[in-house]
Amino acid sequence: MKVLLVNPPRFEGIPVIREERCEITERYSVMEPYSLLQIGALLRRQGDEVALMDMNGFDLGYEELDAGVREHRPDLVMFRFTPTTFDWDMRTASVVKAVDRGIVTAGICWTLHTMPEAVMKDAPDMDHYILQDYEAAAPLLVAALRGGDVNGAPGIATRLGGEIVRTAPATPLKDYDSLPMPAYDLLPSLEPYFVTAPAGRPYTIMYTSKGCPFKCSFCTVAGTPLRMRSADSILNELKYLKGRYGLRTVSFYDETFTFSRERVVELCRRMKDEDLNVRWYCNTRAQLVDPELLRMMRAAGCRGVSFGIESGSQRILDSVEKRITVEQGRQAIKWAKDARLKTFCSFILGLPGEDWSTVQDTLDFVKEALPTSAQFNVAVPYPGTKLYQQVHGDNGPDVDFRRLYQDDAVVGTEHLTPEDLNKAREMAYKALYTSGRWWRANIAHVAREPADLNLAFRYALKIANNYLLHGMKHAH
Ligand code: SF4
Repeated sequence: MKVLLVNPPRFEGIPVIREERCEITERYSVMEPYSLLQIGALLRRQGDEVALMDMNGFDLGYEELDAGVREHRPDLVMFRFTPTTFDWDMRTASVVKAVDRGIVTAGICWTLHTMPEAVMKDAPDMDHYILQDYEAAAPLLVAALRGGDVNGAPGIATRLGGEIVRTAPATPLKDYDSLPMPAYDLLPSLEPYFVTAPAGRPYTIMYTSKGCPFKCSFCTVAGTPLRMRSADSILNELKYLKGRYGLRTVSFYDETFTFSRERVVELCRRMKDEDLNVRWYCNTRAQLVDPELLRMMRAAGCRGVSFGIESGSQRILDSVEKRITVEQGRQAIKWAKDARLKTFCSFILGLPGEDWSTVQDTLDFVKEALPTSAQFNVAVPYPGTKLYQQVHGDNGPDVDFRRLYQDDAVVGTEHLTPEDLNKAREMAYKALYTSGRWWRANIAHVAREPADLNLAFRYALKIANNYLLHGMKHAH
């Protein structure tokens, strides 16, 4: 089959990240559509012909998509969409159908995968919705279309006789090493991509594992099977990127990169031995690091770690089954800073039980621990999460999924209104950005790490722009 993969255009000029747990607008990052590159490689492996249009990355619009569809004349267009950019992203399907109604359209969005009926009801031009892991379900959908029996494709929702039906569950991919090298050659270049500030390019994101067995009640990937790639497979991809593009920076996009200490130790040793000279960043949990590991990571090129700290109140952490302590969070930040790593911490305001005193606990935590950077989100009851159940019960209301973004509260707690939570978010950013200690610590960091000067300068500009001009909307 001829398949055209599409990452839709930017939303109102704002870049969009359309990757599994992270399906959001993000004003200050442009990320390549890694999942589509993986799908591209999988489809090629089974003999399909693939093209890709990263409209978001190259800042192209729907006119260019129209031209691209006319040029490629695909049998199938597969595209990603997000909750808050839903109507905008669905124009992809409409553009395709306007060119030729016979072209099949299939969308991918993890955040809404538990409510395909509501999604497809509002997306008349999308024929199929890939609900489960795209690595497993997308190639099977293409194979089923080729064979003329789409109902045989597992892990999707489709239309049958005017009804929206879900097919049998797909078996998740077990061996993550079995995935071929993502089809990077489908991109014209890595030039447009960066995270947070346009420095350190060429840049890419990369999954070295997928899934998270932890059960945080607010998280859309909680309890998903963890699959890890070997050091060999990761090194292979890094060396390819270094050789072909001169890669300088990579964000390991895993949910919990350091889940296996042993794997990270081996990877660090190999990266050092290979003298790759690539700077890298990762996400993990506070209790999955220790001083020795962090020093090893730094020596292997790591320059920053993101921790999901969530709250400065133990009561709140316990209420969402975070299974870390406030002290572990504090310690992890200190250890990382001691190892000369930047620390990026995320917090959620408005989790069950939140009141002004627990908000204050979080503000106090931030002012004391002084992470290099922090993002403050408001709690969002995403469909399919335990938090959704807690907030809405079994028979929840029809959720307006277009409003599910962590910069504007849609629900409050028993003590705080949504307006209170938005105010708490503003207070948190203000507390950090007006802290003289925070500025001094970051200036001291740049003095120790002159290589970060360009990044730091652009980051400071970003803060000013985001805080003063955009009120921290569509960004962190
Ligand atoms: S640790 Fe918790 S918040 Fe982080 S990915 Fe896993 S379940 Fe989600």
